[in-house]
Amino acid sequence: MLKDQDRIFTNLYGMHDRSLAGAKKRGHWDGTAAILKKGRDWIVEEAKSSGLRGRGGAGFPTGLKWSFMPKESDGRPAYLVINADESEPGTCKDREIMRHDPHTLIEGALIASFAMGAHAAYIYIRGEFIREREALQAAIDECYDAGLLGKNAAKSGWDFDLYLAHGAGAYICGEETAMLESLEGKKGMPRMKPPFPAGAGLYGCPTTVNNVESIAVIPTIMRRGGSWFSSMGRPNNAGTKLFGISGHVVNPCVVEEEMSIPLRELLEKHCGGVRGGWDNLKAVIPGGSSVPLLPRDVADECIMDFDWLREQRSGLGTAAVIVMDESTDIIKAIWRLSKFYKHESCGQCTPCREGTGWMMRVMDRLVTGDAEIEEIDMLLDVTKQVEGHTICALGDAAAWPIQGLVRHFREEIEDRIKYKKTGRVSAVAAE
Ligand code: NAD
Ligand code: SF4
Repeated sequence: MLKDQDRIFTNLYGMHDRSLAGAKKRGHWDGTAAILKKGRDWIVEEAKSSGLRGRGGAGFPTGLKWSFMPKESDGRPAYLVINADESEPGTCKDREIMRHDPHTLIEGALIASFAMGAHAAYIYIRGEFIREREALQAAIDECYDAGLLGKNAAKSGWDFDLYLAHGAGAYICGEETAMLESLEGKKGMPRMKPPFPAGAGLYGCPTTVNNVESIAVIPTIMRRGGSWFSSMGRPNNAGTKLFGISGHVVNPCVVEEEMSIPLRELLEKHCGGVRGGWDNLKAVIPGGSSVPLLPRDVADECIMDFDWLREQRSGLGTAAVIVMDESTDIIKAIWRLSKFYKHESCGQCTPCREGTGWMMRVMDRLVTGDAEIEEIDMLLDVTKQVEGHTICALGDAAAWPIQGLVRHFREEIEDRIKYKKTGRVSAVAAE
C-alpha cells in the first residue's frame, strides 16, 4: 500500500494551489538546473534504473526508449512529443495531472527533452480537454515569465521551448505516428513502423513520444532516485501508478497507488467497493477498453500490473478500471466498444476498416440474440484475421474485447441466442 510521503501527485484532488507558487511549495522546480547539470547519460540511466514503463498503455520501458535517440546530432533537431490525447474509453488519469499538477509535467518535459537533446517539445492535447488546455497554457505562460522555459531554461544553460497543440476529436490521433502526422498538419493516419519515431519522427527528425504520466513522474524520480521508484511494486512492474476507476463502484475516482496492488484492495480502499458488495461483481476491464475483460473469479485474485494481467490474457493498458456488476448486459457493453472502434478506425488498412464493421455487425446480432450459434466462432475467426494484421494497434484493440467476451461469457451469448429461438430460459439467463 502506498505511503502518503511516496505520492508523486499530491495535488491531484484540486485541494491545493496549481499555480507556480503552489507547485514550488510542493517541491516542484526545486534544483532543476542541478538535475540537468548531472548530464544526459545520468538522467537516462536513472530513468532506466527506476524501471518506469510507459504509462500510455503499452508499458514500453521509458529509459530504454530515450536511449534510442541519437547521442550526437546529425544536423536534424530532436523533439519530445507528449501524448496528452487521452481518449481510451474509461481513461481520465492524464486529465487530472493537467488540471491539477501541470507544473510537474512541464518540469518533466524540460528534464526529458534535455536528456534526449531536444530544444523543443510539443504537448498534443485532446481537443475536448478545454479546461485542461487552459490550465496547461496558464502554467506554460507562468514558466516563460519566470524564466523556467525559453532561453537558459531554469538557469540550466539549456534553451527549451514548449508548445501546446490541440487535437480535433479523433481517437486515432492518440496513436503516436498518427499524432506526428497531425502535428505536421496532415490527416491523422498511423505510419508503418519501423522506422520508429526515434529514427524518423516529427518532420522526419529524431522524436520520442511519451505519455503525460510518464513525463510527469520524471522530476520526482530524478530527485528521489531510480532506486526509490523501483522499490515499489514488483520486479518489472515498478513504481506508483494512477488508476482511474469507473463504473459500478460506490465512489468512482482517480487515485495514485503502488503498482501491483490487488484489484480488490484498490476498489475497497479508494472507491467504497463494488456497488452491492464484492459478490455483486460480474466482470472488470482492468486497463481501458483495449484490453480484454476479466470475470469475477479472475478478478478475485487480480494483481494490478503489466505482467500479472498479461498472464491472464488481459493487460494493464491505461489502468482505467471499468467495473461491471451483475446488472450489466455484458454482451451489450462489449458491443458498445465494437461500435466505438468501428467509428474510430481511420480506414487505411483493409483488415481494420472491413473487420471492425464485420465485428460490429455480428455483435449487433449477438446483443439481440438474432444470430446463429455458429456465428460466435465465425466472429472469433474474424477477430483473429484482424489481430496482428494491421498498421496500428487499433485493430488489436477492436479484436481483444470480443475475444475476452467469448472466452469468459460464451455461455451467456449462446443462451441469449437459444432463448430468442425457443423462448426458454436456461440456467444462465435465469440467474
Ligand atoms: P507499441 O507497443 O507499438 O509501442 C509502444 C511504444 O514503444 C511506442 O512509443 C513505440 O514507438 C515504442 N517501441 C515499441 N517497439 C519498439 C522498437 N522495437 N524500437 C523502438 N521503439 C519501440 O504500442 P502503441 O501502439 O504505442 O500503444 C498501444 C497501447 O496504447 C494500447 O495497449 C492501449 O492500452 C494504449 N492506448 C492508450 C490510449 C490513451 O488514451 N492513453 C488510447 C488508445 C490506446
Ligand atoms: Fe487505421 Fe485501423 Fe489500420 Fe490503425 S489499424 S491504421 S486505425 S485502419
